[in-house]
Amino acid sequence: MSDFDLFVIGAGSAGVRASRMAAAKGLKVAVAESRYLGGTCVNVGCVPKKLFVYGSEIPHMIEDAKGYGFDLSVNHFSWDTLRNNKTKEIERLNGIYQKLLDNSGVTTIIGHAKLIGKNQVDVDGETYTADKILLATGGWPVLPEIEGKEHCVNSNDFFYLDTLPKKVLVLGSGYIAVEFAGILNGLGCETTIASRSGKLLRGFDESTRSFAQTEILKKNLNLIAAQPEKITKQADKFHVVLSNGDAIDVDLVVSAIGRSPNIENLGIKEQGIRIADNGYIEVNDQYETNLSGVYALGDLIDTPQLTPVALAEAMMFLKQQYDKQDTVLNYDNIATAVFSQPSLATVGVTEEQALKQGIDTQIFESEFRALRLTITDSTERTYMKLVVDKKTDKVIGAHMVGEHAAEIIQGIAIAIKAGATKSIFDETIGIHPSSAEEFVTMRTPSN
Ligand code: FAD
Ligand code: NDP
Repeated sequence: MSDFDLFVIGAGSAGVRASRMAAAKGLKVAVAESRYLGGTCVNVGCVPKKLFVYGSEIPHMIEDAKGYGFDLSVNHFSWDTLRNNKTKEIERLNGIYQKLLDNSGVTTIIGHAKLIGKNQVDVDGETYTADKILLATGGWPVLPEIEGKEHCVNSNDFFYLDTLPKKVLVLGSGYIAVEFAGILNGLGCETTIASRSGKLLRGFDESTRSFAQTEILKKNLNLIAAQPEKITKQADKFHVVLSNGDAIDVDLVVSAIGRSPNIENLGIKEQGIRIADNGYIEVNDQYETNLSGVYALGDLIDTPQLTPVALAEAMMFLKQQYDKQDTVLNYDNIATAVFSQPSLATVGVTEEQALKQGIDTQIFESEFRALRLTITDSTERTYMKLVVDKKTDKVIGAHMVGEHAAEIIQGIAIAIKAGATKSIFDETIGIHPSSAEEFVTMRTPSN
């Protein structure tokens, strides 16, 4: 008889959800965690990032306040206060996660876990057996393969910087690069993004990402279309040689060029678990690896690297394994947001994806200055776009750049998931005055 029904490796978004909910079903469950309860999202991801985004928006709001008659000035900004308050909140959340696990009867084992057999896990020299093992060890930031890469800080280090740099170079073009650059810029650092393609946010709807880029760069953020070739430390500065022949001297280099599955010393190779060419663990629809009884989900597998996806996969895993439901997760229409300044949010297909799928589309677009900004000096503009399937009239994609994009698109995602047609959008009476009402008042296609 095994020590546990289910042994989960990694107490991040997926691992905590799976272990808690499995224990709630009366199963004997253990979860092993080597760093921090709550994983990436809680400790060095979504939550501290959003707190920093809020902080970095304050100087923009103070600027906007002038138009409303308030003459506010920033006397002092304390990075130490923001960072330490953030850390206090994260520690509070760590405690909540521990309580959640304890209250649901999960055994928490602190230490590095390694798969040592089909039903066996080693945690720092102690062996445990389990009927099923769930790998949920998440991802880890990658650094550029260049000379001097050790001088870069990664996204984990970013949340614990001793001091805020005066001048910073952010490497990358994706979610993290754009969000971190916005935070640093908002907090007063002279910020440059080095993007090898020169175009931010690959994969998002083309006109939406172009619009976002224009608006992001209006905020005094610099963009260089190049990648670093060599980084050297010169006194307290870093000298970065770029692929376009230029060089830049900065106080800090932040690398945000992607993440890879965290399988370091996990026993994957030793146990013969198959890894795809792109580095992700291969699983079937039931999240089972080629080693029967060993499962993997979250950022370890090739599905969107988002917390709500990791949570949904954990729930689906339990349904499949313990409720014996013959069902699989539907990955269509997953809404997502980039908390840039302004933010970008999206759900459903892009115009380009629709075209590729041979769908005859009608595109509706709207661009305007948000009412809040009309009496300020801000020139920021908002963009909204709907992609409609001409044949069925269904809205199959919604994209937005502007204030509260995430909050607005979350609601639109429900309508799209429910299969709403453009006629239903048109019949919906808006909330006035709001930016969101624009999504139900776009009447003339732009194509
Ligand atoms: P994780 O949350 O990474 O958890 C894995 C856990 O396993 C970790 O706690 C780790 O310490 C532990 N572990 C690893 N190896 C071992 C081992 N051998 N033994 C024991 N424990 C181990 N997603 C969003 O949806 N919205 C956002 O706004 C967002 N912002 C992000 C910002 C940043 C900077 C980053 C890096 C990510 C962000 N994400 C966001 C992505 C999100 O954090 C991840 O998709 C999510 O955390 C994945 O969950 P997971 O359970 O797969 O892995
Ligand atoms: P992303 O995959 O989003 O972006 C990385 C980008 O860096 C690539 O698109 C590529 O852009 C560029 N890049 C890749 N390799 C190199 C290289 N060798 N040199 C220079 N540039 C390179 O990764 P992130 O690290 O930003 O984030 C990882 C994941 O975490 C995201 O995909 C997302 O799923 C999740 N996340 C979600 C957030 C949210 O929901 N708000 C926030 C943060 C992270 P190009 O090819 O255009 O040059």
